[in-house]
Amino acid sequence: MNPEPIQAASPHVMNTYGRLPIALSHGQGCHVWDMNGKVYLDALGGIAVNTLGHNHPKLVPALQDQIAKIIHSCNYYHVPNQETLAKKLVELSGMRNVFFCSTGLEANEAALKLARKFGHDKGIARPEIVVYEKAFHGRSIATLSATGNPKIQAGFEPLVEGFIRVPINNVASLKTATQDNPNVVAVFFEAIQGEGGVNPMHMDYLREVRQLCDENDWLLMIDEVQCGMGRTGKWFAHQWAGIVPDVMPLAKGLGSGVPIGAVVAGPKAANIFQPGNHGTTFGGNPLAMRAGVETIRIMEEEGLLENATRVGAHLCQALQTALAAELTNGSVKEIRGMGLMIGIELAKPCSILTQQCADNGLLISVTADTVVRLVPPLIMSCTEADDVARILCPLIRTFLEENA
Ligand SMILES: *Cc1c(COP(=O)(O)O)cnc(C)c1O
Repeated sequence: MNPEPIQAASPHVMNTYGRLPIALSHGQGCHVWDMNGKVYLDALGGIAVNTLGHNHPKLVPALQDQIAKIIHSCNYYHVPNQETLAKKLVELSGMRNVFFCSTGLEANEAALKLARKFGHDKGIARPEIVVYEKAFHGRSIATLSATGNPKIQAGFEPLVEGFIRVPINNVASLKTATQDNPNVVAVFFEAIQGEGGVNPMHMDYLREVRQLCDENDWLLMIDEVQCGMGRTGKWFAHQWAGIVPDVMPLAKGLGSGVPIGAVVAGPKAANIFQPGNHGTTFGGNPLAMRAGVETIRIMEEEGLLENATRVGAHLCQALQTALAAELTNGSVKEIRGMGLMIGIELAKPCSILTQQCADNGLLISVTADTVVRLVPPLIMSCTEADDVARILCPLIRTFLEENA
């Protein structure tokens, strides 16, 4: 290959991303190669999307088979794999039925519509939904309004109304914010905040909110777009708390890279939408459904939940060990997460580490300014996890020394 040099800004593509000067050409397992032939260990997985890594030997032939048969048919007709994938998601979640779309924000948009209609169906004309500080739910007008990050909202006002915002892991705040408010219809949050800095909801908080929702007839809506699909070692992160939500948006890892979203509904939310209430052209298309079906099948065959737990614990341990001094002196505030969703919070903004890691052959991201986020493919091995720590930790240490 003899690539053109990567331009700092692409003149015809809208300038919406701060990109690194890298263009990826192909991948294999947890490794990717750029157009110049440089290899990277992939600890980002396309932002928690490439569940099965790259060029998976079982996924690729299945998708090739599907593409040769039919890619898209539209929802005027039945798509048999919608039923197959929905049944599987219902079994794995203990919920009732599924609406398919193509992205995370669409899954969340559907959840917000479900919550509002749930309210209207019981006579609440102006339903309100509890959302959280530092939350991220997407970039449509409604989902950015639900998002708890003023930077994402700036310039797009007026925001959608009907949201009440509270801090995470604080039952008292939730109670105060909703006290004597008959318009509340739902509580909506990520089981582990992703973009907000890998902030897990505490198990007892999850259980208490479940109980509050039951007592008040609110929908418990858990955004598992990033933390779901096996990333934490269970199919869905909230399952660690032994609870079941009423509404659960999914996307990212569900199709191993093929765009797909889903909103899973429990009994309380399963019959809110009636024909004509919601829909989308691409949602549930044959290619996306095949990707979802095969992703879950391969995850089960290869024991990837167990792998996420085992390799995640191994990686956390390796990071804790290598950064022990920094954790002690406070320049690394915390290493947290579950399974293969790990955040390393530094005491200062460290976005520059994404470039430095890439220069050294490692793909990561920095989110919420100070948190190094690792969300690799769930096929990662302990050896590869050791490589992540081996490349990353010295770079963090040098960064901290130079910016002390
Ligand atoms: C990425 C993300 C979204 C938005 O998904 P898109 O596919 O980018 O629209 C929503 N919620 C969470 C928790 C996410 O991580």
